[in-house]
Amino acid sequence: RKCIVVITGASSGLGLATAKALSETGQCHVIMACRNFLKAERAAKTAGIPKENYTVMHLDLASLESVRQFVDTFRRSGMPLDVLVCNAAVYLPTAKEPTYTAEGFELSVGTNHLGHFLLARLLLDDLKKSDYPTKRLIIVGSITGNTNTLAGNVPPKANLGDLRGLVGGLNDLNSSPMIDGGEFDGAKAYKDSKVCNMLTMQELHRRYHEETGITFASLYPGCIAETGLFRNHIPLFRTLFPPFQKYITKGYVSEEEAGKRLAQVVSDPSLTKSGVYWSWNKNSSSFENQLSKEASNAEKALKLWEISEKLVGLA
Ligand code: NDP
Repeated sequence: RKCIVVITGASSGLGLATAKALSETGQCHVIMACRNFLKAERAAKTAGIPKENYTVMHLDLASLESVRQFVDTFRRSGMPLDVLVCNAAVYLPTAKEPTYTAEGFELSVGTNHLGHFLLARLLLDDLKKSDYPTKRLIIVGSITGNTNTLAGNVPPKANLGDLRGLVGGLNDLNSSPMIDGGEFDGAKAYKDSKVCNMLTMQELHRRYHEETGITFASLYPGCIAETGLFRNHIPLFRTLFPPFQKYITKGYVSEEEAGKRLAQVVSDPSLTKSGVYWSWNKNSSSFENQLSKEASNAEKALKLWEISEKLVGLA
């Protein structure tokens, strides 16, 4: 049978390119878990994904209620779950003031981390039940959260501190919209959320890999400088960023190539090692990359897990 793959945020950029690449293998059916139903349908059509290879289901990660509803809808479809890809993200580098999710968490960490944390935790049961030979749970990471790289050292750097802002519920009612308890900074909030994504993948691996056989993985697909992720950036940045990445840093990767990379992590039989953060070298071959000190700190991963459980209502 076909492999059933749920991809969050498959209505544009990396998620859409991955859905297309997986569809082209002829062996996958993609559930496009998206907040904008019509946009997702249009995107699938424009990308030329055949109707029988995808289903659009509504998911707004900025609402925990919507996450729970998505899980219900998916279960009622009767389809098994073989692979979950947590891909959606928001990036608000120019925001002066914080904005919030339905439950009142700062939007970047609330969407990118907490929404996916609840989704992954709930769907773990469905993954366990699948009889597919290689079950996987993938959370898209990023170089920007890794302070052991050049890109990760561009200020403001990711830093979760002692997680006091997260404990306070990520809003200025109790403490601060930032995980470390500092002043709001949209670019930093995104980087922090990516560190959370990478820590969560490792904690899932430690807790569930042996027991369930599920492969947990994260990746940095390269700098996909033209995706919607940069839609909130100033126009000059959006003009200069792609050529800068192409010719200066040489970290540029097209949406199509990035989609192929993530599709490899979803379905390539040679990429089944669990607990790995994948990257690609200049010849586009995959390798196991090193995470920064903070993004691989097991103590922090555990603390993040326990606080996140409370915030999303699982503990
Ligand atoms: P895009 O903005 O093109 O795609 C992001 C997707 O997330 C969109 O489909 C968007 O939906 C969706 N999304 C945003 N908020 C929500 C929400 N509340 N609920 C459901 N879906 C939501 O960006 P990319 O393709 O670049 O980003 C995809 C992933 O790749 C992210 O995890 C990002 O961190 C990562 N990444 C990107 C890099 C890059 O250079 N672009 C580099 C490294 C990692 P909608 O279409 O409705 O807006």
